[in-house]
Amino acid sequence: MKIKNVYIIGLILSSSIPVFGQTTTQLLQKGMAALGNWENVTHFEYETKRINIDQWQGYDFAHPLPENDRFHLFFDIKNNRFLHHTQNHYPGGYLFDTYRLGRDSRYYVYDGIGSRTGKDLLDLGSKPFNGRKSALLNSFPYFILKQLLQETQGTSVLTEGNDWVILKKTEAGNEEYRLDKKTFLLKKITKGQGKDTIVQRYEDYTQTHGLMTARKSSLERNGNLVYADSLALFKYNEAMPDQAFNFPPGYQATTEKTPELSAKIIAKDVYLIENIDADRNIMFINMGDYIVLTEAPLAPAVTRSILDVIHTALPGIPVKYVHLSHFHNDHIAGIAEAVKEGAAIICTEDMKQPVMQMLQNTDPIYNTHKVDFLTFKQKKTLESSQKKLEFYEIPNSHAKGMSFLYLPEEKLIYQGDLLSLPADAYLTPSIAVTQEFSKFLSQKKITFNQIIGHHGLSVIPKKTFEEVNTMKNIGPLFKNTFEQ
Ligand SMILES: [Zn+2]
Repeated sequence: MKIKNVYIIGLILSSSIPVFGQTTTQLLQKGMAALGNWENVTHFEYETKRINIDQWQGYDFAHPLPENDRFHLFFDIKNNRFLHHTQNHYPGGYLFDTYRLGRDSRYYVYDGIGSRTGKDLLDLGSKPFNGRKSALLNSFPYFILKQLLQETQGTSVLTEGNDWVILKKTEAGNEEYRLDKKTFLLKKITKGQGKDTIVQRYEDYTQTHGLMTARKSSLERNGNLVYADSLALFKYNEAMPDQAFNFPPGYQATTEKTPELSAKIIAKDVYLIENIDADRNIMFINMGDYIVLTEAPLAPAVTRSILDVIHTALPGIPVKYVHLSHFHNDHIAGIAEAVKEGAAIICTEDMKQPVMQMLQNTDPIYNTHKVDFLTFKQKKTLESSQKKLEFYEIPNSHAKGMSFLYLPEEKLIYQGDLLSLPADAYLTPSIAVTQEFSKFLSQKKITFNQIIGHHGLSVIPKKTFEEVNTMKNIGPLFKNTFEQ
């Protein structure tokens, strides 16, 4: 009897009840009114401090730590333009200082400190403009509800506990919107996206001259925090610096290059494939009766396109080994394609767990299938009658278990994320992980003429490496006088 009661109560609490007499239209209009007169906003400025946790981009896969980032936005609704500036930190001293500018119905991206894409002003054209614009606006409750009003007209409202609940079916999965019963403020959105559940929360609303904004907002994926924002600034309809939407002085307008991939010989039996997904370079070595490849970037389809180029350049020779420099997902997410062809993975022992996890995420078959690993600590040598390869594990602050490849005869190094220079060769002072790399090379007395970079500039002469290591920090390349 007792059990039955508990069961009944549980059932009532966990299911939402339709509310008679109130439609989503009425509820959403109340929800929008509760946020204030947003329809009178012609322009606004918004900034948050963002805590971001990304297990696949942290230092230690087993212990992801938060990074402190910044999110800043100027939005000029009246003149249909925006400037979105983010500063994202990654271990080892990396700072991605990215500006996304929408104006004249075109979308542009540039790097404020020049360390990543140099002085390129990337013109992405008119196609992505509207998508970016609505994605930015739809991170604010008012615009979310406004959009929802158009999509869910007349459907019934549910109630559960202290919430009003609106359900919406989409192709990607179901969406649930929760508004507070008393205040009518939007507090939670849950979206099913394939096998993932995304939860967006808005909490601790505050009023600025009649408009409500959430002081805390966050995003979770499958119960894990992706980011948490704390409001740092919100202003609207106040004077906005017009120069915020100017093009950065001294930058070179470019368009995205996605040339057809091809293999280039850089030494006997040593090949380079450049500009993979615009920004990446990989190397492969013909050892005689097998091939060694460096990295498996971005996604299975990207690594597949790399393997296709290799098989065209060296038909009939199998890719026997893939060296993965570190566990970050942009370097290993395509590994299943190489494993499918029978390749074994060369990496440090510390990397085995995340690499296995990536394989299992890509294809559940790897929960049971055996994967061949050649793991090592400190140093591993691979030798054939015609080539000698050395792999060095390097203590560093970017990713635990990082290693790089050295070809002693060619005096050539291939590395991922120890040294990354922009493709336009604009130089900025080296970051911590690059200094650690330089120190390690001199300690081990590794002599080299060239370094191949996974990101950006592919072939880096020794002289350039020395130059960035001795450069003094001169501050930001592009001074944002219009930002606070
Ligand atoms: Zn990395």
